[in-house]
Amino acid sequence: MTVEQNLHNITQEIEEACERVNRDPNEITIIGVTKYVTIEKAKEVINAGIGNIGENRMEGFLEKRHSIDLDVNWHFIGTLQSRKVKEVIQDIDFLHSLDRTSLAKEINKRTNKVVPSFVQVNVSGESSKHGLQVDEVEDFIQKMESYPNVKIIGLMTMAPHDEDEESLRSIFSRLRELRDSIKEKNLSHAPCEFLSMGMSNDYSIAIEEGATHIRIGTSLVGAKE
Ligand SMILES: *Cc1c(COP(=O)(O)O)cnc(C)c1O
Repeated sequence: MTVEQNLHNITQEIEEACERVNRDPNEITIIGVTKYVTIEKAKEVINAGIGNIGENRMEGFLEKRHSIDLDVNWHFIGTLQSRKVKEVIQDIDFLHSLDRTSLAKEINKRTNKVVPSFVQVNVSGESSKHGLQVDEVEDFIQKMESYPNVKIIGLMTMAPHDEDEESLRSIFSRLRELRDSIKEKNLSHAPCEFLSMGMSNDYSIAIEEGATHIRIGTSLVGAKE
């Protein structure tokens, strides 16, 4: 299937999920994850109408960012090593993987723009997953006030791959509740409005549970080339 056909199917699923829970599909941002594919294919994704591109490794991110001269937002969705920050931070429009104070400190030092960031949370508690534990998040976000170049716009999580629907739902709704409690505080450095959750295999459920940003790779571009 072509990227256009895939996008058509995804858009339809988004509409159906929104309809089931009375949400407006315009609230959902699709981030096209191009880590599996070539620069050419990434351009195809953008030309199909995707205005947000996600990459999880620095090399791939920079390669595409520098070869594609199209008007899109660039999302960094993978683990970011502190020592790499200076090489990449100016090119990041949105960061989805803020998970430690030392990273915020380094970002704050290496850029003079404000980087809209999602705090990555390990809701499932799986040891293989990156991110803060749920009970660490509120304190962490308070601390972020000291780093004015980091603005907390939301929370992000990755759910385990082979989880059943009920467990996925509880992971996503947990993140939503946490987002709600932070948002209620009206912190100027952390408006925390958004939820980056849902990938190819679970985005419908994530949307039903409140996702605003879904990160879609395989369903959009096919598996690794
Ligand atoms: C690869 C990746 C995705 C997309 O995964 P698919 O299952 O291919 O849709 C989403 N988020 C992150 C952080 C990723 O690394």
